[in-house]
Parts: sequence; C-alpha cells; structure tokens
Amino acid sequence: MKYTTVIGLEIHAELLTKSKVFCGCKNSFGGRVNGNCCPVCAGMPGTLPALNKKAVELAVAAGLSFGCAVSRLTVWDRKNYFYPDLAKAYQISQLYAPVCLGGGLETGGRFIRLTRIHLEEDAGKLTHTRGGTLIDYNRAGVPLIEIVTEPDMRSADEAVEFVENVRRTLVYAGVSDGKMEQGSLRVDANISVMPSGTEKFGTRTEIKNLNSFKFIKKAVEFEAERQAEVLDGGGAVAQETRRYDEASGETFSMRSKEDAHDYRYFPDPDIPPVVISDADVERIKNALPETPSARLKKYAGYGLSVADAGVILENKPVSDFYDACVKAGADPVAAANLIRGEILRRYNASADREQIPVAPADIADALKLAEKSEIDGGGLKTAVGCMYLERKPLSAVLAEKNLFVKEDLSLVSEVVKRVVSENPKAAAQYKEGDAKVLSFFIGQCARALRGGALAQTVRAELERVLNDGD
Ligand code: ADP
Ligand code: MG
Ligand code: ZN
Repeated sequence: MKYTTVIGLEIHAELLTKSKVFCGCKNSFGGRVNGNCCPVCAGMPGTLPALNKKAVELAVAAGLSFGCAVSRLTVWDRKNYFYPDLAKAYQISQLYAPVCLGGGLETGGRFIRLTRIHLEEDAGKLTHTRGGTLIDYNRAGVPLIEIVTEPDMRSADEAVEFVENVRRTLVYAGVSDGKMEQGSLRVDANISVMPSGTEKFGTRTEIKNLNSFKFIKKAVEFEAERQAEVLDGGGAVAQETRRYDEASGETFSMRSKEDAHDYRYFPDPDIPPVVISDADVERIKNALPETPSARLKKYAGYGLSVADAGVILENKPVSDFYDACVKAGADPVAAANLIRGEILRRYNASADREQIPVAPADIADALKLAEKSEIDGGGLKTAVGCMYLERKPLSAVLAEKNLFVKEDLSLVSEVVKRVVSENPKAAAQYKEGDAKVLSFFIGQCARALRGGALAQTVRAELERVLNDGD
C-alpha cells in the first residue's frame, strides 16, 4: 500500500543569553567541564532560582518572529523526573501557560502551524563511557525554548526545510545561535503514516534528539518506511519513543508510551508568574529585524530567483548588506549577482563573518559606473576585490587602479568610418529615417573596439558620420 507520512516536530533551541536562566553562571558552550556551575544550577538543596528576564524576552522575540500570540501571564511548572542529567530531579518548564501560542511559518509554499513555544532550562550533558557515565552540568540551567508544531509536515524533505527555516528565523532574531553541531538546536520528530488518500492519522512514534539536518532526513525516512512495513505485514505501530542510531541509520525503541513517565507537573512555587505587558511586547517587536520570510518575499518582488534569494538569506550579515546596497540605489538584480560572486567568495573565506567591510553606497556607485560602461566587467570585479580586501573606498580604488575604460578617439572614428562604409545598405536605411539600424551599427563597432570605448562615445560618433556622410 502507498502511505503518506505525517510529521510534527518539537524543536529545542538554546537562547543567546549571557548567563543561565535561573542563576548568574555563564551561558557558553565548551569551557572547563563543570566550570560554569553554582549551587543553583547544580541543584543543591536550599537554593532558590532567580529568573533571567532576558530569557523571557528572547522567547517573546521568537514568538513574534513566528506570528504567535504572546501570553500576558506566563507560569513556571516543575516537570519531575529522576535522572542524573537533572540534579534537582525536576526541570523547571512550562505546561499550562506557555509564553507563546499559535503562529507558524510558511515553508515551500505550505503554512506549517506552531502549537506553542515554552521556556525551560536545559539539563546537564551525559557522556556514557565504558568506565561509567560522566556528567557535565555546564549546560544545566541554560535557557531553552521548545517550539512545538502541529502535525503539518508530509515528508522528510519538508521537515528539513522547515527546521532550516526555523533555525534561520531564530538566528536573524538573535534568539539562538542555531549551532546544531554544538547542540544549540535539537529536534524530536513525531512520525506516523496513513494510507494515501485517507485523513485519519496513524499511531505515532517520537524520535529523540536529532542534531543535524542529515539525521532528521534519514531518521524520518527510515521510520516512515519501517512503519509502512509493519502495517503492510498486518501489524500495528506501537506508540513509543525511539532513538536514531547514526551509525546504522536505523531507529530503535527506547521506551513505550505505556510505561512513559508521569511527570507530575505542578506550578513551581519558587518562581512567581511573569507578567508581560503590551509595552514589553511593543518594545521587543520594534527591536526585531525583518524576518527572513519577509525578506524572501521582498527579494522575489525584486525579481531574484528562489536560489539567489536563498543564497543571500543564508547569512544575515550578507542579507543586511544586500538590503543596504539596494537602499543605496543599487539595481537589485545586479547587486544580487555581484554579491553571489565577488562578495560571497570573500565573505566565505574571511574570518570575520559578522560584517562585510565595503560601503553599500560604493557598491551602488560601482554598479552604476558599470551600467554606463565607464568601467567594464573586469574593472567592476577589481574594484570590489580591492574595496573588500584593502578596505579602501571606491574613489581611491578607481584612481589607483586606473579602472575607467580608456578611449582612443581616433580609433573610434576610424572604426566607425570603416563599419559605415562596409554597410552602405544599412547607412541608407538610417538616412531614410530607420533609427533601429543604429543599434546594429553600435553592435558592430563595439565588437571591433572590444570595450575600448564608452557606448555613448561610439553612438555620438556614429550619428555624426551617418548624418554628415563624413
Ligand atoms: P507529547 O506531549 O506526548 O509529546 P503532544 O500532543 O504534545 O504529545 O504532541 C507532540 C508532537 O507530536 C506534536 O509536534 C504533534 O504535532 C505531533 N503529533 C501528534 N500526533 C501525531 C501523529 N499522529 N503523527 C505525527 N505527529 C503527531
Ligand atoms: Mg513530546
Ligand atoms: Zn549556576
């Protein structure tokens, strides 16, 4: 039988705060093992958490970027479980009144709905070795948002594209660094299959902790295939939590839903509910940059292809730079081409990925010179290269490298005369008032001159010769 895959995701993103969510310890990846710990995040009895308001603000910023409704009162709950990655045996999370509800994100033409976004603290990191399990609590207490989607995705590729889109949106908003290789972004994928053409969802399994786009794709594909085989064999899919094994590319059962934990959620008495005012929301909204989705629409309106727009959007500094060039008067398509080639090559090779050391107005001016053929394609490349690498303004580069097209006027006049005399029929047509043949003549001359003159010089000389017969 043919099946349709149904996917809903839970995306965990670590927030870009300086300190942890309930204590003053540093929130940073790496560093000395258990070096960023205090009695609060190590779960010592008698300690009390103090909320880092920045974490709430970043969660609100995430919600606003996805068009969610932001709660005006958000409450903390204890999620109880006993495991060594969680020293106090409960995680401070949100169940009943999460910080954001609803919203969504258009991906590949389909709107994927979000159910909710809630805040919580990350747990410590366990490393299982032969000699035993090692614990690093540096990650414990790092603020996390969990973004839960509706079961709206229908293929592994769509799920990957959606996560890419979510990741980019969070990075643009400054909510998370989105570094999957450092665990800043981790995905649980819920997957079920149903006979194609039907509408009732099948029983789902949940695959935990996918930390790369490749693994998301492979895990979803494997799991959908596995479930289809179970159903085709007359069996029933068991609702369970599974893990993806990177080495074999297969998923394995971890625990069934029957013996799933009862987390005994209840409101945390140590942390007061957080009131979020309209003014807070307004302030956070005003500080947000334009989302990548909005920029994508804008770029399509400029006439950029989806591929070009995607390349520019991939890094926010590049997209910011592109927008600044267009604002400075650059032609959007010409600027996109220049950025895809000359700028991106240097940006990708440079150590500083935060900014592009060229003035956008200089790019706009250089493109205008090229458009008027005062500099040629090679000159444009040289100009951009020097501006980028030598950090010089356009005016200095043009003078220093002598980039203006040099004209030999006697050569122009010689070529024009020759071309006109070689094409008496066209010359006669022109005299009879057929102005269109002028572009034919300009083309012929340009070919002979090989860029050695400006188009307007050639045109003026042609008009003179054709009219005077000189
Ligand atoms: P839980 O609390 O057990 O994780 P939720 O109801 O919160 O359960 O659902 C978690 C995720 O599972 C959501 O992303 C949701 O979209 C997804 N989901 C629910 N039902 C299905 C299904 N039949 N197939 C695929 N995904 C599903
Ligand atoms: Mg779940
Ligand atoms: Zn701490």
